[in-house]
Amino acid sequence: MQTSFTAEQLADPKLADANTTLRKCVHCGFCTATCPTYVLLGDELDSPRGRIYLIKEMLEQGKAADASTVKHIDRCLSCLSCMTTCPSGVNYMHLIDQARAHVEKTYNRTLGDRFMRWLLDFVMTRPTVFRLSLAGAALARPLAPVLQAFGLKRMSAMLSLAPATLPRPLPDRLQPAKLKRRVGLLKGCVQSVMDPGINDATVRLLNRFGIEVIESTVPCCGSLSHHMGKEDAALAHARAMIDAFAALDVEAIVITASGCGTTIKDYGHMLQHDAQYAEKAARVAGKALDVTEFLAKLELPTGTAQGRVSYHSACSMQHGQRIKTLPQALLRRAGFTVSDVPDGHLCCGSAGTYNMLQPEIATRLRDKKISDILTTAPEIIATGNIGCMTQLATVSPVPLVHTVELLDWAYGGPRPDKLNHPLA
Ligand code: SF4
Ligand code: SF4
Repeated sequence: MQTSFTAEQLADPKLADANTTLRKCVHCGFCTATCPTYVLLGDELDSPRGRIYLIKEMLEQGKAADASTVKHIDRCLSCLSCMTTCPSGVNYMHLIDQARAHVEKTYNRTLGDRFMRWLLDFVMTRPTVFRLSLAGAALARPLAPVLQAFGLKRMSAMLSLAPATLPRPLPDRLQPAKLKRRVGLLKGCVQSVMDPGINDATVRLLNRFGIEVIESTVPCCGSLSHHMGKEDAALAHARAMIDAFAALDVEAIVITASGCGTTIKDYGHMLQHDAQYAEKAARVAGKALDVTEFLAKLELPTGTAQGRVSYHSACSMQHGQRIKTLPQALLRRAGFTVSDVPDGHLCCGSAGTYNMLQPEIATRLRDKKISDILTTAPEIIATGNIGCMTQLATVSPVPLVHTVELLDWAYGGPRPDKLNHPLA
């Protein structure tokens, strides 16, 4: 794609990066076929190629974003399915991240929109505040249909996603003494409140194979803020996380939420122009592994677990981190019978805060995903991202669990409680 940035613009390293990315796009349009919003809405401007044009125009002009451009950028899920399909290696993730930051800085959103975005960013990235808010939302949940009827669809979506009850925070974990190896583990903001049992299962499983686990003292990696274009907040979270992990003597940083994994693995890029953090950020990013990547290195023994599992691959797992078959292979090795989901490349509509900011598109994607999953007749649905678990649990008749909970169970841990009581 031809670009026409001025020499002065190209002196800005971020615009120079965008220019390099834009120039890789050859307009072939292969990405449109696998883009969930294009598949649903059929509008070129809601396809990756259309959005790339809009972003190019917006950045070249160097002006405030306009309403039409913002509408199509906001509708993007950041699912990165387009990156998997693109034959030219266009890094759409970096482009859309930059576009969202530009929109956030230059576009004057309505008061309601600004409030909603501020609320989500403030609440969800702070576990204590989030826990209190969810308790309130659970009480107000019966009002969701009323809010929907009055056209307050986003508020209604927020309430509908709040679980009726929350798991209690877990007591401090006691780990066996004298373990030979040591890893760091991301605590997580949303996941540590919604489902602390996921990291608990991870610690039990890794301990059993001789590995000590140190959970991060900092909860949030900045991913949620990053996806809303709140660059300063995202980088502040990232720097705090980098400081916390850089101080640990660990062989790897294990992550159990694939959305967070995609962001932490990108810290090197996010902070490449920060002289103080660039090297540390790249070092932390280089140690980051999804829990299934780390487990695959351990060469776990063959197990005797039973059960028909449908594996839903989160977009951040398959497109963001390019982990396509490892989780399924681990589950099969443990003994489970595993099916992949038809049209598995399409997003379930969760996408960070997307299911609350774009509830109509998110609901259509969720309904398609659950019906695709059910064609495989599963007894259990497994996935590797808390966002997908929460999104799908609102309509799933089949329990959803994290992959690592099934592996912990298969290798001597307790049966996941959610198999008796689904998340919703
Ligand atoms: S990230 Fe997903 S929704 Fe956005 S343009 Fe790419 S494929 Fe479409
Ligand atoms: S597939 Fe890649 S090169 Fe082709 S239009 Fe999409 S982003 Fe551009």
